[in-house]
Amino acid sequence: MVVVGGGECGARAALAMRAAGWTGPVTLVGEEAMAPYERPPLSKAALIGDAPSPATICDETALRDAGISFLAGVPVTHVDRDAHEIGLADGRRLGYERLLLATGAAPRRLPLPGADGVRYLRTHADALALRERLRPGARVGVVGGGFIGLELAASAVARGCTVTVVEVAPRLMGRVVPVEVAAVLADRHTRAGVDVRCGVGLAGLEPTGLDLDTGETVPCDVVVAGIGAVPETALAEKAGLAVDDGLRVDARLATSDPDVFAAGDCCSFPHPLYDDRRIRLESWRNAQDQGTAAARSMLGADEPFAAVPWMWSDQYELTLQIAGLPDAAVTEVVRRRPDGVEIRFGLGEDGRLLAASAVGEGNAVARDVRVAELLVGRRATPAPAALADPAVPLKSLLRGAGCTA
Ligand code: ADP
Repeated sequence: MVVVGGGECGARAALAMRAAGWTGPVTLVGEEAMAPYERPPLSKAALIGDAPSPATICDETALRDAGISFLAGVPVTHVDRDAHEIGLADGRRLGYERLLLATGAAPRRLPLPGADGVRYLRTHADALALRERLRPGARVGVVGGGFIGLELAASAVARGCTVTVVEVAPRLMGRVVPVEVAAVLADRHTRAGVDVRCGVGLAGLEPTGLDLDTGETVPCDVVVAGIGAVPETALAEKAGLAVDDGLRVDARLATSDPDVFAAGDCCSFPHPLYDDRRIRLESWRNAQDQGTAAARSMLGADEPFAAVPWMWSDQYELTLQIAGLPDAAVTEVVRRRPDGVEIRFGLGEDGRLLAASAVGEGNAVARDVRVAELLVGRRATPAPAALADPAVPLKSLLRGAGCTA
C-alpha cells in the first residue's frame, strides 16, 4: 500500500490501513521534509501564537511504531501504472499493489504581471515567511475575501497590522457561505478596522501596493492572495488517469484505474446525498474522512463515501460552521435563537434538509450544526416550522429521523 501525499489525508489514510487490520507494508511519501502536520492553524495560531512550530498529526516515531515507512522530502515524479510502480525524484522506484494519490491542492496564483512578491499560504514554510512580515503597523493587502483571505485578515489585525481586503465578487465568501452568514463576518471585519472592498478587481500590482480597477492605489508592505486552490493532478494526468475538476473517482474513491485511488482536496467524487452530483471539497474534515475511507476501499471494502460535508472557519472570536451543501438548497429556513445567533437551514424541493450554516462566538453554533449534520446524513425532512422555532430542540427532530444525537 503506497500513499502519495503527506498531508492530513495521506497521513490519515496510512494510519487507517493499520486500524483496518492491514499488516502488510505501508509507505507514505511526502514532498515536504517534515512529519505530517495540521494545516488549519497556519492561517491562525501559527501567525499570531507564540510557538510557530507545526501541530504534528503523527510524528516520525508514531509512524515508525505503526510500521509505516515514511519518505519525507521526496517528490514523486511519475506513476507507471503498467509496472505498478512510482518513481521518486531521487531516482528510486517503489512498487505498489494499491496506490492512493492524496496530493492536495495548490494556491491559485494571481495572473498578473508584478505578482512575484505576492505571498500565498499553504505550507508551514509559507506561514513562517508570512509571520515575519506581519509586523505591527505593516500595511497588509489581502487579495480574495474567502476562507484563507479572511482568516489571514483577522490574524493580521491581531498582529497590529492595517488590513485591506480586495474581493472581486460583490460579497465575501461566495463559494459556499450563504450571503447573510458572510455579512456577519464582513461586519466583524469592518468593526476590527479592516477596509473590506467587495466588487473591486485588481488592475495591477506594484512593489509598493495594489492598483485597483477603480483607479485607486492601496499602499501595502505585504500582499497576500487567497484566491482559491487548484487540485494537484499533474502526476495523475501524466499517468493518463481521468481528471474532472480534480482526479475523477467513483463512490469508493477509486480512479479510472482500479488499483489507484484518490482522496481529499485533489479529487472530485459523486455524492449520494446530493443526487450523485460530482463535487470536490477543500476541507480538513473531508481530507480526514476520505483518507480513512480510501484506505478501507484499498483493502477491499465496498462502501460508498457518503459523509456529510462539514467545514469551519475561525475569525476573531467568531466561528463559522457549515454542514452539507448550502448551494444545493432551494428554500431557506432561519432559526433565530434568543442569544441572537441565526441558524440557516437549506431545504431541497422534496423538503429534505440539505445544509445548515451559522456563525457565533466560540462554540455557540457547534451543537446545532452538529445535529443538523446528523439530520442531513439521515435524509431527514423536518417540518420547516419546527426548524424555525427556537423553542423546539433540534435534537428532538432526530427522533423522527431514526437516529439519536
Ligand atoms: P481560499 O481557500 O483561497 O480562501 P475561497 O474560494 O474560499 O478560496 O476564496 C477565494 C476568494 O477569492 C473568492 O471569494 C473569489 O471571489 C476571490 N477571488 C478570486 N480571484 C480574485 C481576484 N483576482 N481578485 C480578488 N478576489 C479574487
